[in-house]
Amino acid sequence: MRKPFVAGNWKMNKTVAQASMLVQELLLGLQAVPEVERVLCPPFTSLMILSAQLANTGVGLGAQNLHWEASGAYTGEIAPQMVKEFCGYVIIGHSERRAFFAESDETVNKKLKAALALGLIPIVCIGETLSEYETGKTGEVVKRQVLLGFKEIDTAIASQIVVAYEPIWAIGTGKASTGEDANAVLKDHIRPALANLFGSAVAQGIRILYGGSVTAANAEEFFHQSEVDGALVGGASLKPSEFIKIVEAARP
Ligand code: PEP
Repeated sequence: MRKPFVAGNWKMNKTVAQASMLVQELLLGLQAVPEVERVLCPPFTSLMILSAQLANTGVGLGAQNLHWEASGAYTGEIAPQMVKEFCGYVIIGHSERRAFFAESDETVNKKLKAALALGLIPIVCIGETLSEYETGKTGEVVKRQVLLGFKEIDTAIASQIVVAYEPIWAIGTGKASTGEDANAVLKDHIRPALANLFGSAVAQGIRILYGGSVTAANAEEFFHQSEVDGALVGGASLKPSEFIKIVEAARP
């Protein structure tokens, strides 16, 4: 049994005061759904205050990125240990990082190893562009992203990884995939690629999320699918009642 998982990616939104207020609005509703692993991923600047606010609530805290080196001359970057001070989770390889900050399957792999080495739970994002989708390359793309991104990961810790399948054409566009289509990508391509690397027993235990314009109105369509274990939510995670409804919909 894979525990359902829903994470909110706040992206570059909310000052510290605004983030703290949003957590206050979310907390009671999220605490009422312990059957779902639920995680909030605010900007770095709010991690310290939110880690105090979320302590002993059962609601997890994640960063949106990390660097793979432990320290050094990397201006503007955040080291894994700095994330670990406040967080249990970290998003790796979001498509916006791949598109705007030159992240690649190779840097995703380095970040993934660094996160796992510290016991952080990584939420690794994969997914195809619109043109790859339109030319029928989805399977090929996600398989390559798994193969290179998850290279040389120890099978014994692979089950800690959470994968987020996010078709890029569905992110922030209001054009979500369908439950059936997303499930087919997970079933036919992503889980088999994980099984190739780690064996089918381990692959069966790895949670795979769908992400891309998930809302309270369409969440159930995804969560009813056999392979979809939850969601990575962007825009709707900034709206308290909407996000709480999505988390509730993920109940097993
Ligand atoms: C995301 O940022 O990972 C995402 C899925 O965004 P949205 O829900 O807004 O499409």
